[in-house]
Amino acid sequence: MRVAFTFAQGFVMRTAFNLSRFQKSVSHWYSKNGRDLPWRRTRDPYAILVSEFMLQQTQVATVIPYYEAWLRRFPDFHALAAASESEILHAWQGLGYYSRARNLRATARQISTEHGGECPTELDQLLALRGIGRYTAQAVLTFAHDKPLGIVEANTARLLARLFNVSAPIDSSAGRRIIWDHASRLVPQKRPGNFNSALIDLGATVCLARNPRCGLCPVKRFCRATDPLRLPIKKPRAAPISLVEQHSFILQRGRVLLQRCRKRWRGMWMLPELKRAPAQAKPIYRSSFPFTHHKVTLEVFRGSAPPGRRIDSQWFAAGSLDHIPVPSPHRRVLAAFLPSGSAGSQARSSDRTNTPSGL
Ligand code: SF4
Repeated sequence: MRVAFTFAQGFVMRTAFNLSRFQKSVSHWYSKNGRDLPWRRTRDPYAILVSEFMLQQTQVATVIPYYEAWLRRFPDFHALAAASESEILHAWQGLGYYSRARNLRATARQISTEHGGECPTELDQLLALRGIGRYTAQAVLTFAHDKPLGIVEANTARLLARLFNVSAPIDSSAGRRIIWDHASRLVPQKRPGNFNSALIDLGATVCLARNPRCGLCPVKRFCRATDPLRLPIKKPRAAPISLVEQHSFILQRGRVLLQRCRKRWRGMWMLPELKRAPAQAKPIYRSSFPFTHHKVTLEVFRGSAPPGRRIDSQWFAAGSLDHIPVPSPHRRVLAAFLPSGSAGSQARSSDRTNTPSGL
């Protein structure tokens, strides 16, 4: 079947795009080269939803152990709905972007109470759930129920922008519309879930951001990219804003004083915040980590126990820290200064430049 379709950019390609051949090339390549990922071995919408929440902003290799541990700990919507916020933050710690964990639990609660623990199978019902947008809803429907819906995530957006030489920024509303349009038109009626997985894998392993492997690409003959390295085009980004955050490390008789986070890491425990660093004191630890559009420098100073008791603070035995949710930048400080193993082992490798200077 030859299908010449009008592209959303407003022109008809001179050479017809053979959709059927394109789909066959993609499927054939996927049958030999597709990645064997744990969430591809199931049709359980709950497991697929968990994987989709975890994969937002996070690499596949990082997600796999978290995904497997999460399903052991919270095997279905009811189990997750019944978990406390502290439990889910603890299970999520190290993955970052904790609002995903809170939203996932809120979704589970809604599905548990309003849908009897069964994930809806209609797009509008899924979109009505908290924290679920078009991508996640369509991903669940295509991967769990094989519905012929296109999906667009980072890998497919790059692939489609190059395949169709999209000149609009893919993070603009016009660019997003074009890419979604292409994704929807390409998806076949037969085994659409596999096809969507194939596009993701093509983007992740062949049409690489910095080094597209065009010589090995199974869809090279369909590709319209005139200069792949210039694509996809994105809107210029504002430079990250630098922030310095100062905290104290207070250890007394084998116990550490921690403060309940109220903002960025709401519900987790961190080193007590300092309004101002002690005069002339040098930090005992410094690290930097990215957070959304900020570059945060964390400075830690040795402190002593404050008089009285603060309502949002609590002493923890060093050996008990593995059982409470602590954000990774702060857990690394604890790991640097407490006996080995007492601060837990989960830490994100994406945070950089840790420089403990000793107590
Ligand atoms: Fe990407 Fe190159 Fe394949 Fe085009 S030919 S889709 S740029 S890898």
